[in-house]
Amino acid sequence: MSDNVQTVKVLSKTTWTPNLFSFTVTRPESFKFTAGQFVRLGVNPSRLAYHQQAGNSDAPDEEIFRAYSMVSSPYDETLEFFSIVIEDGAFTSQLQHLQEGDELLLKTMPFGFLTLARYQEPAPKDLWLLATGTGIAPFLSMLQDLQTWENYEHIVLAYSARTKEELAYLDLINTLEADFGGLVDNPAKFTFVPIVTREKVEGALEERFPKLLVNGELEQFVGAKLDPEHSHVMLCGNPQMVEDTRNTLRDEKGMAMNRRGMGNIAVENYW
Ligand code: NAP
Repeated sequence: MSDNVQTVKVLSKTTWTPNLFSFTVTRPESFKFTAGQFVRLGVNPSRLAYHQQAGNSDAPDEEIFRAYSMVSSPYDETLEFFSIVIEDGAFTSQLQHLQEGDELLLKTMPFGFLTLARYQEPAPKDLWLLATGTGIAPFLSMLQDLQTWENYEHIVLAYSARTKEELAYLDLINTLEADFGGLVDNPAKFTFVPIVTREKVEGALEERFPKLLVNGELEQFVGAKLDPEHSHVMLCGNPQMVEDTRNTLRDEKGMAMNRRGMGNIAVENYW
């Protein structure tokens, strides 16, 4: 095995819905990353306890790797990941069978530029984090990093899922401001905006991001304006959402993609 691939052990698994789950693994001591980054995780299906217990001799005996961003903060002792189960997906259809004690592989070179460090100009006052589905993962890592709370005056996390059940991590989200903001002087004010698009849920917005920007409902919910001078915006999730929302921010709000440290919008397609 090459130097930059380490074996990690599954410590726990949380099932949110039949198609959404999270898991934690041991963290190699040498593995460092910045909040918001991705890593490559590998699984060899034939080695999973699930297949061994079931005597599934046809489980593939090969390593399959996929990119996953950390939910956990750079300071946590373990690593946490959030996954969807993609029907017929070679990786996640195996990963869904993970059990405590299973081993995965981790390529220890982190990557991805959805990090605060990409903004080189003096930080504007507001940080808007807009996610769909499992694209919330890098934002949860950033929100468990004190620097995020120090850098801004107001942080907005808007999280869009099809159903209420698919809005994961609500308990963590509800304690972020007290747990992390509470540790710094002048912590950012935090506003969480739940968005559920396929059923009515009290207290949640109902439309997709571009529409919420055009009709003003997102800003109204938050009680603040998105503007090029004062806001950094990060988008992560469904690639079509990223494209549509980026275009809407450009056309409606006069915002520009962040390049060489300048500009408001940073994006990551999550799949
Ligand atoms: P999703 O379809 O991305 O929906 C999550 C949220 O994003 C919903 O509120 C949805 O609204 C919204 N959304 C979708 N397209 C949008 C757009 N163009 N602009 C703004 N908002 C948009 O749901 P998912 O559960 O993450 O993924 C669902 C499907 O994608 C599954 O079939 C899955 O297999 C496939 N997929 C997902 C991943 C992944 O990592 N998440 C990877 C590969 C494939 P609506 O309810 O209005 O659609």
